[in-house]
Parts: sequence; C-alpha cells; structure tokens
Amino acid sequence: MGKCIYCEKKAGFLSSRHRACKTKFENGVQLYIDEISNTIVKKSTYENLKQKLEEIRVSHLIKENQKPSLIALGFDRAIKSILSDRLLSVEEEDRVTEFKTRFELSEKLLDKNGSYTKVIMSSILRDLSIGLIPELNTNNVIPLPFLFQKSEQLIWFFNDVGYYEQQTRTEYHGSKGSLNFELFKGVDYEMSSFSVSPVSITEMNYISTGTLAITTNHIYFGSDDTTFKIRHSNLIGIDPYEDGIGIHTDGWNSVPQVFNNIDGWFMYYAIIGLNKL
Ligand SMILES: [Zn+2]
Repeated sequence: MGKCIYCEKKAGFLSSRHRACKTKFENGVQLYIDEISNTIVKKSTYENLKQKLEEIRVSHLIKENQKPSLIALGFDRAIKSILSDRLLSVEEEDRVTEFKTRFELSEKLLDKNGSYTKVIMSSILRDLSIGLIPELNTNNVIPLPFLFQKSEQLIWFFNDVGYYEQQTRTEYHGSKGSLNFELFKGVDYEMSSFSVSPVSITEMNYISTGTLAITTNHIYFGSDDTTFKIRHSNLIGIDPYEDGIGIHTDGWNSVPQVFNNIDGWFMYYAIIGLNKL
C-alpha cells in the first residue's frame, strides 16, 4: 500500500497520491505565490502576511521545507509585474528591503531566479534616468581586468560574455534601438516596448568570451585574446536583444559588435541613460 506524498495517508495499491490532495496542493501553491506578489505590488501591509501564508500552507498540504522556493517565486512574480511597465520607485525598493528583513530572507534566496539583481539594476536605471550617477556597491567585486580612468565610474559588469562580430559591414540606418529615441525622459520607460528576441549568433563570427564592464564613459570588454573599450560618444546605434546587445560605432571600417549572455534590458537602458548624462 502506497502513502500519499501530500497527506501521508494510505493512497491505495501502487499509488503515491490522492488526486484531491494533488489539486489542493497545486491550488495552494498558486495562492501562496499570489499572496506574496500581491502584497508587494499592491503595497498592502506586511502585517498579517506571515499568518496568511501559514494558513495557506497548512490547509493546502504544503510542507515547511517548500516555503523558501515559494517565497522566491512570489518575489519573482512581484518584481516581474512591476518591471513590466515601470522601474521600481524608491518606496517600492524600501518595501523590498522591508520584506527581506521581516521574513529574514537572504539575498541569495531572493536572487534564486535573478530578481534581486533586477531590483538593483532598476535602482541604477532610475538614478540614470534623473541624471544621477549610481553608486555601485563594489565590495564584492573581484578585480576587473581593466584600467579605468580616474574620471570614470563603474556602473556594472558581466562575466562570461560572448563577443561576436557581424561578418559584413552594414550601413547603420537606425532602428528602434537608435540612440536618438527619446525613450528615457524621466522615468518614462516602457518595458512593454522591450519585446526583443535572443541574439542569433549563427551568422556571426565568434571572437572570444570574457568580461564586459560599463562605466560612465565607456564599454570595456576583456578576455584572454582581446581587450578594448568603446566610448559611449562613438556609439551611433544599439540593437537590444533579450540576452545581449548589438552596438554600432562610428567609423568607416566598423562592423557591428554583438555581446551575449548579458541582460539586454539593463544594458540597453543603461547605455541610453549614460548617453544622456
Ligand atoms: Zn492525500
């Protein structure tokens, strides 16, 4: 006789779950995630959240050790929902901190699917959008393989970035990624306009893999084979991708350069923001 993995009572011959228990559990998971997400997004009080979640958990046969991953999923949903049409406000950022403190959650847990990093990125973009240079917490930054100028400040960096060049030189006529676009007035930012596809690397020459850094003045790329920097003022266009960017620079012999395995959303708006400083 098998035991039900949800209620731990007898489930019948060769059976490991009651169908009703499975349904109850799955509904509970949705309720749990929604409760967290709605509380964060709708700015409701956190006062009774712990108790509500515990009620959902117990009545829907959710185990104690399943809590952390459900909290991470609820947080992911909230951040995704906010960023789908705006950057987080200072108030919303404070509420994220309060959520983290109140529930004694680690950055690691909230960043399980990258959402905590998105909150930091959103804060950087908000600063840039109002003409402020963001302060990157560089305590945990390993030494980067670049010599920055005294006058420039590190904004962000990505590791394991693939660097590609387009095979043929193409004249750049501007696209929706054109730097002339007024996408970045104030916090007038539309994530919905950022529906882009992944980098298609099939028609490109792979050059190398390394670290990409973005500073107030330049984009730096460094790997074992090559190191170079591009001044923001030499950029004439950007193609945003879901997982990368393509950049076009001034110059008769320049070919489009593409970097992948980075957050295209962040990189795109960061470059636009930096160009407006
Ligand atoms: Zn059962």
